[in-house]
Amino acid sequence: MPFSTIAGHGRVLSLLSRAIARDAMPPAVLMAGPAGVGKRLTAVAVAQAINCLQPRSSAELERDACGECASCKRIARGVHPDVIILEPAGETAVIKIEPLREVVQQSQYRPFEGRRRVIIIDEADAATTDAQSALLKPLEEPPSASIFILVSSLPDVLLPTVRSRCPRLRFGPLAPADVARILVRDHQYSEADARAAAANADGSVSRALETESEDVSDAREAAQRLLQDTARSTQPAQRIAIAQNLTAGKGTPAEERNRLAVRLRSLGSLLRDIGIIASRADRSMLANADLEPQLEKLSASFDVERSLRAYTAVDQALAALGRNASAKVVADWLLLEL
Ligand SMILES: [Zn+2]
Repeated sequence: MPFSTIAGHGRVLSLLSRAIARDAMPPAVLMAGPAGVGKRLTAVAVAQAINCLQPRSSAELERDACGECASCKRIARGVHPDVIILEPAGETAVIKIEPLREVVQQSQYRPFEGRRRVIIIDEADAATTDAQSALLKPLEEPPSASIFILVSSLPDVLLPTVRSRCPRLRFGPLAPADVARILVRDHQYSEADARAAAANADGSVSRALETESEDVSDAREAAQRLLQDTARSTQPAQRIAIAQNLTAGKGTPAEERNRLAVRLRSLGSLLRDIGIIASRADRSMLANADLEPQLEKLSASFDVERSLRAYTAVDQALAALGRNASAKVVADWLLLEL
């Protein structure tokens, strides 16, 4: 997958592309950022751009892979001898020291056929402490023909000694429109489903894929109803009744927390959009553009300040659910804050 087909991350991609064109790629980098935004794809695109037999260039990308030559195709299929991807394996889902040692050993030799060997360690934070320690020497004195790319959504879990040896490339969340485009292009979503799923996914394709589309449209409806109800009512007793609707449904405590989390993410997404409308910002930024008339109406009750305060409260509620707080307690608290 060449850089040109990766959604978002324009600045990071052009930086990488320039470094590759000028033969100035650092021998080790850490690609850090939320899960499901394209870090691993970018790492593979780096390997392709370096080893492509017919590289291209454009105004934004000084050097990019063609995606079609024998080298690009083999890298994409994971069978190029000079591009190694290490990832967590087995029941414990860790990266053990043995495969890592083997890779470090290989990195000492010249590449078989490519320009440079690229070693991608995906979910590097899942490497055991031993395995991470085995990386220290090659990261410190990298073999001249090899590049190490560490990929992680939890970079702070890595050993400080590993972190300090790798310059960090930060990946942010994707724009909802980019998530939606990927869902349509690569995952056969309809436009409407893609938009609904993307609005609820915090800029992560994997999160969008994890949530069933019916769940999302239900959640969006529930969130919309809740905002209409709270816009009208200021009585605490009524608020508590609204909170009960928000947590309606049966299941184990964990299922209740998950269901509430999906609804809260919808709520946060709607509040963000209401804030955009209330502050007269650019409406092309709306994640729920299909609900624009309804959100417009709600913005009469939720001005900039109230929508921002509510958004912050939703964020805190999600964090509390992440810490295993009970769905009912979280919903009751939140409803009094909106
Ligand atoms: Zn190529």
